[in-house]
Amino acid sequence: MQVRNDGGESEANPGAIIMWFRNDLRLTDNPALRHAEGSGRPVICLYILDETPGVRPMGAASLWWLDKSLKSLAQSLEKLGNRLVLRKGAAAEVLDAVVAETGATSVLWNRLYDKARTDRDAEIKAGLKQAGVDCQSFNAGLLNEPWTVRNGSGQPYKVFTPYWRAARGQLDETTVELAPRSLRSLDKNVRSERLADWGLHPARPDWSKGFDIWSPGEAGALKRLDGFLSGPITGYGEARDVPGVEATSRLSPHLHFGEIGPRQVWLAVRDAAEAGDIPSTEADKFLSEIGWREFNHAILFHWPQLPTRNFKPEFDGFPWTTDPAAFEAWTRGETGYPIVDAGMRELWTTGFMHNRVRMIVASFLIKHLMIDWREGEAWFWDTLVDADLASNVGNWQWTAGSGADASPYFRIFNPIAQGEKFDPRGVYVRRWIPELKSASDELIHKPWLRPLDLPAAAKRIYAKPIVDHAKARERALEAYHSL
Ligand code: FAD
Repeated sequence: MQVRNDGGESEANPGAIIMWFRNDLRLTDNPALRHAEGSGRPVICLYILDETPGVRPMGAASLWWLDKSLKSLAQSLEKLGNRLVLRKGAAAEVLDAVVAETGATSVLWNRLYDKARTDRDAEIKAGLKQAGVDCQSFNAGLLNEPWTVRNGSGQPYKVFTPYWRAARGQLDETTVELAPRSLRSLDKNVRSERLADWGLHPARPDWSKGFDIWSPGEAGALKRLDGFLSGPITGYGEARDVPGVEATSRLSPHLHFGEIGPRQVWLAVRDAAEAGDIPSTEADKFLSEIGWREFNHAILFHWPQLPTRNFKPEFDGFPWTTDPAAFEAWTRGETGYPIVDAGMRELWTTGFMHNRVRMIVASFLIKHLMIDWREGEAWFWDTLVDADLASNVGNWQWTAGSGADASPYFRIFNPIAQGEKFDPRGVYVRRWIPELKSASDELIHKPWLRPLDLPAAAKRIYAKPIVDHAKARERALEAYHSL
């Protein structure tokens, strides 16, 4: 696959170019930016904190990340002799204003794929074209754009395995665009808002202390990839399910904000495997996870109503319960099931949760508490630094059984057995639930069975299970069979 480049620049058009940054906050492998550089024309680098109605606003954890990522991008652009212009407002209005202020004659961007933003972009494109402003878009965010992977009858795939087989087959020629060496700026100063005035970093209270494990920005993303390839990838296939060890790449927020592109990840992994630096089985497993990211984007593109509607309409009649107290216990990590509570506390503290634990906590909310997956999805949206519409909605629907290629509803995770299997020594649980630090390995996932073994403080502080596993399981299955 070659980097798609949608057209040539007109020699007769000498105006400035607006490079509209969105989820592509990087210099390397950024085709729109590269195209702007190649034109030799002045480039206005613009980021819009978009307020278009219908486009889902970012959650608090994402805004924390965005703040740092924009700072990093602004610094990188300054090194190229350019600067980042910040504006807040509905994207169409902001672009019209910047065009009017600068006389820019082209707008370039890298594509996004959810309906609210494809609709927005199409409208912007039509409006700008009418005003005589040229628009071009590129692919920076996916290995294969959703419409390019289809089955023998020309339909989009609904099942991951054949999807990925077809998608992989199209990737042999992948290349990466180099970062620009310099970027001509406009002679006149373009008004920019101040990042600090956007208030993206939380204040009063600042709940983000535990987020200091992250280094948002392109340099941080490359460092993560390097660190992963020089160590954890070797045992990825098995260890990726063990939350007590850091065995996965933690690239998800970097990929979401586009601080690194999937082509860069793909090529780095493929080259390392071909050079014999990493086992090819582990490389394949890791790349198939990148494949799930692609699959979720394709599914959301073809079934745009998924953030609110079940992929499988038979779930529309599911008898969800309304239980604010249980929901709150879940969000606070106070359900009494240690692996669930550890996950929810990791999420609140760091903006991240291990994938295996995401599946366990999501299953618990949907099946043990019978709370609508949309409520869980919204909580994750607000608290995850990697909150991504396609992956979040896709995985919540996968867990609920209502999604494409989903886990069947009747497969109900037992939170005790899951804890014992994937965190047998309680390393993860002890890290996030200090009350259980001195519980025995045998009881760490069911501390209520012999509370006398717990120190007095833990008995007081750590919750009893808010539902009984066996009864909750039965209730969920009954509800499912009633459909
Ligand atoms: P690695 O194991 O190192 O995987 C590499 C990359 O592959 C990830 O960075 C990610 O981009 C992609 N990936 C891995 N697993 C999945 C998956 N199941 N679906 C889609 N992409 C995947 N991921 C998000 O990026 N954003 C979300 O909002 C999100 N919400 C989720 C909600 C639920 C209920 C569940 C069960 C999973 C969710 N995931 C989401 C998927 C997955 O948990 C994270 O991508 C993964 O934990 C990120 O950690 P990592 O980068 O170390 O992953």
